[in-house]
Amino acid sequence: MHIILMGPPAAGKGTQSKFLQEKYGLAHFSTGDELRAEIENGTDIGKKVEAIMKDGGLVSDDIIMDIIKDRLNNPDFSKGIIFDGVVRTIPQAEGLEKILNERGEHIAIAFNLIVNEDMLLQRVEARVAQTLAAGQTPRKDDDPEVLKRRINEYTNFSKIVAPYYAEKGVLVEIDGQQSIKDVTGFIESHMQRLTPR
Ligand code: AMP
Repeated sequence: MHIILMGPPAAGKGTQSKFLQEKYGLAHFSTGDELRAEIENGTDIGKKVEAIMKDGGLVSDDIIMDIIKDRLNNPDFSKGIIFDGVVRTIPQAEGLEKILNERGEHIAIAFNLIVNEDMLLQRVEARVAQTLAAGQTPRKDDDPEVLKRRINEYTNFSKIVAPYYAEKGVLVEIDGQQSIKDVTGFIESHMQRLTPR
């Protein structure tokens, strides 16, 4: 079973993804993580995307589709995947659908976590403070100016991508300003419809 998790930075995707992994044995797949690893490893892709990511812009569909194709055969993905931040444009949504269809698979639910901008900025400030307190370096794109750009970028693409999944009948919108427990409960209630006991 494959799930899409959409939402702006700091909407709670990481936390809810952990829940979905533990409860349903799904694997987590984030193009953001994959791209950061490419940068860390100094690959050609890493060199191409570094400046774009630092600015909070969108990496090209070609690079994203290559990464998706390359990683999808990972045996750890056999129980299903949480696609976290993976689909940000219509060509990516169509490309992913085509790849999954060729494998006889599909997206079961596209969860969209909705949180207002003020709360997102507060959460990122808290995340940066926690990271610094732990003696670690915050993510480069957790800077307030970059964050605003990333939120804008998210708002733009979600206006396009969310209706795509609504049309497919798999979009579930979630009030991400609720407590973590309530968001998890809401997600669980939708997952139960797919995995009845
Ligand atoms: P994330 O960790 O998902 O917030 O992604 C961090 C950054 O990686 C984004 O701001 C984009 O620059 C880039 N990125 C990740 N996934 C994609 C995607 N599917 N399409 C385009 N750019 C992406």
